[in-house]
Amino acid sequence: MKTVLIPGGAGYIGSHTVRALADAGFNCVVYDNLSEGHREAVKDFELIEGDLLDFEKLTQVFKSRKIDGVVHFAAFALVGVSMKDPLAYYRNNVIGTHNLLTTMVNTEVKNIVFSSTCAVYGDVKNVPINESFLAEPCNPYGETKLAVERMLKWCDAAHNIKYVCPRYFNAAGAMSDGSIGEDHKLETHLIPLVYRAILKNETLSVFGNDYQTRDGSCIRDYIHVCDLADAHVKALKFLLDGGSSMSVNLGTEYGASVFEIIKAAEQASGMVVNYTVAPRRAGDPPILVADTSLAKEKLGWNAVRGLKEIMADAWQWHKNHPKGYGG
Ligand code: UDP
Repeated sequence: MKTVLIPGGAGYIGSHTVRALADAGFNCVVYDNLSEGHREAVKDFELIEGDLLDFEKLTQVFKSRKIDGVVHFAAFALVGVSMKDPLAYYRNNVIGTHNLLTTMVNTEVKNIVFSSTCAVYGDVKNVPINESFLAEPCNPYGETKLAVERMLKWCDAAHNIKYVCPRYFNAAGAMSDGSIGEDHKLETHLIPLVYRAILKNETLSVFGNDYQTRDGSCIRDYIHVCDLADAHVKALKFLLDGGSSMSVNLGTEYGASVFEIIKAAEQASGMVVNYTVAPRRAGDPPILVADTSLAKEKLGWNAVRGLKEIMADAWQWHKNHPKGYGG
């Protein structure tokens, strides 16, 4: 059985991927400082509580077992916070991953799947976005992810470390059995906030209705977290089978507007969403939709769950866990 180390595996996308890796026959070792992750999300798996900035601990983990590959999620991931505190993002995301890669080089671990983001593209002029688009992030979060992608490129050249960097579009949904889902300390994402508005009788702010889109609100490519998880399994297998390094988009190629998400949430829940139109949120591009041809070609992957499943599974999770894992 092959062993995978999963930094950040107790977080939202990480915990869904741990399940998918285990289902595919991998032995999963989660390494997480629990700053955003939840012990309960990985309760059936080995969890080492640790930080990527703790070089000694990381080294000890790598030396104490044979690790065949790394699937790395541990990072700060809020655009707005990164604008206010870029150095915290560089320290955690870039220096943390520098430690991880140094340890991999020292212990001759050669394969890594690194969670990247469509935020590396910045403000694009056209959609769908493919991987040949110029990567020009417009916030520190995207910059730190791109910095790691570039660090990986040079680690491949110098140390033969092979990587896949999945660039996620908008991760959403939850495990369909309702056991794990999305629970962030600071929630800024649309779908959890739409359901929070329903469950707590709050009013959702729609950030802008005057964009050049079909209904004036922003359009995003929402992808089911379990589809993302399956893509990570395929990416790891691709590397273990000798695949070469790449960055690859993960989305559905379908864009939904904010108003369409509100409607889909009403259909999934049978409840009404109270909303008000608010000013645009700084830094929001009008439309982001993925071209996922490369993932299809190289990984044999495409998203199999649509917006209906995303909204139904997210509703199930939020309805049953209105206070998240702690509730
Ligand atoms: N959005 C919104 N109200 C909210 C949160 C988000 O109208 O309370 C919009 C946001 O402006 C963007 C879309 O929903 O156009 C998706 O935002 P989210 O934060 O979920 O993901 P992002 O695309 O920023 O990563």
